[in-house]
Amino acid sequence: MSNKSIIEEYSIDTLMPNLVNGNWTVPEDTPGIQVSNPATGNIIATVPDSTTQEVDRIVRAAHEAFISWSKTPAVQRIQILFKLKGLLEDDFENLSQIVTREHGKTLSESRGEVRRAIENLDVAVGVPTMMQGTNLEDVASGIDEYAVRQPLGVFAAIAPFNFPAMVPMWFLPYAIACGNTFLVKPSEQAPLSQVRIAELATQAGLPNGVLSLVHGGRSTVEAILDHPLITGASFVGSTPVAKSVYERGTQNGKRMQCQGGAKNYLVVMPDAEMEPSIENIVESAFGCAGQRCLAGSVVVAVGNAYDDVKKRLLDGAKDLIIGDGSKDGVHMGPVISETSRQRILESIENGVNEGADILLDGRGKAVPGYDSGYFLGPTLFAEVTPEMSLAKDEIFGPVLSVMSADNLDDALDLVDAVPFGNMACIFTSSGKAARQFSSKVKAGNVGINIGVAAPMAFFHFGGMKDSFFGDLHGQGRDAVDFFTEDKVVIERWY
Ligand code: NAD
Repeated sequence: MSNKSIIEEYSIDTLMPNLVNGNWTVPEDTPGIQVSNPATGNIIATVPDSTTQEVDRIVRAAHEAFISWSKTPAVQRIQILFKLKGLLEDDFENLSQIVTREHGKTLSESRGEVRRAIENLDVAVGVPTMMQGTNLEDVASGIDEYAVRQPLGVFAAIAPFNFPAMVPMWFLPYAIACGNTFLVKPSEQAPLSQVRIAELATQAGLPNGVLSLVHGGRSTVEAILDHPLITGASFVGSTPVAKSVYERGTQNGKRMQCQGGAKNYLVVMPDAEMEPSIENIVESAFGCAGQRCLAGSVVVAVGNAYDDVKKRLLDGAKDLIIGDGSKDGVHMGPVISETSRQRILESIENGVNEGADILLDGRGKAVPGYDSGYFLGPTLFAEVTPEMSLAKDEIFGPVLSVMSADNLDDALDLVDAVPFGNMACIFTSSGKAARQFSSKVKAGNVGINIGVAAPMAFFHFGGMKDSFFGDLHGQGRDAVDFFTEDKVVIERWY
């Protein structure tokens, strides 16, 4: 048997395989979806747009595997996750390079993502503790009562392109550690790092069918949501899709958690430590080419901070080096696709037409030697007002808008006016202002002098309003609750 990984062995003339009952197999008679390297525009793989029949085959095997996996003691289940952690550490650099190739982000951003992915294993191995129930002796004379947590069946993750290695790991290790079996449907735009992670999970010793992987797009997702043997699903992606996936899944009686899009506001108070704050904001807005769900999208400069903030942001953004993320010294890679690039160009055009002041124009950015890459430079707007699309709509690209507010209450009103509630941040040296902001703001992840408020794996990943549909979130204890059923037993012995 070859020691080469599936991705190394893969030939561009064939479809990338699915992981079905422990075997990597290419489905027959299935159309393909092309995957490109966003820096070069070169096609790097073609994945199957898997059919309902293929999903059915995979889910039936996963359902079969659940019978013995759910009965495997939790302490044994987590031994495989410990092994997987070791394999991921050994493969860290390779995996990071795969992320840069499929997504375009810089290598240091990819390394950060892979680290965050692995951290979820660090937490999920605590499942023998986290999954414990509760009990009370003598709830009535001679009667004891206790609650136990049990696994439920086959769960699925439906993932976005922007953190291709990390997002499925907000769910996968917890679901498996809790005794469920799991199906990953990676983004069809960036599916390769999940192939590598699933390959390593198999090497770590997961029994056949415990982890499966199916490639595809919308119809594959619909087949998952309609399958009677799927117990529940975790979705991460744009708001319109999150909402429709949530509705379809719940109508089919499934347990659903759906994380949606974002429009993240960053409030800068006049008493903020300007230099590190602006550095943080520039990184938040333009890191990963603005394609983070925690990317800063609008800066609200309060009171007399406005002119200073505008000038400093321009200074911070104008010198960013744009290019192939795999090369040293590059600060910002391309966006994911030409379609995305065109959509972002349209948002910039709308901003100009609506009367915002364009301080830095990233349109027309060319990277020598990369004529077919999907590049854009950073774009900065000022004089943005609440009714403009720049203030309301998710752009998901390297575009930052600056608004002004007279005071913190007015700034909070601006933040609350947007339908999204993924992240909101404040930059200030006043504990009082920070406390007022974090207490009042309707956002699931709040940053205080932090520009990308990404919760560590032992906390849940928040989300409110149109950024989250469901009750229990990904990561941490919420994940354990989502992937288990709480059963109460009342017992008496004569
Ligand atoms: P997307 O909604 O286009 O796709 C997400 C997933 O849904 C993909 O696997 C895709 O195949 C599938 N899909 C697409 N259209 C579908 C449809 N009509 N029906 C069923 N499934 C469908 O999102 P994307 O462009 O891959 O990712 C970017 C979006 O994800 C942004 O809006 C970003 O804010 C959001 N996001 C949110 C979070 C969060 O934690 N809230 C994290 C990462 C990304």
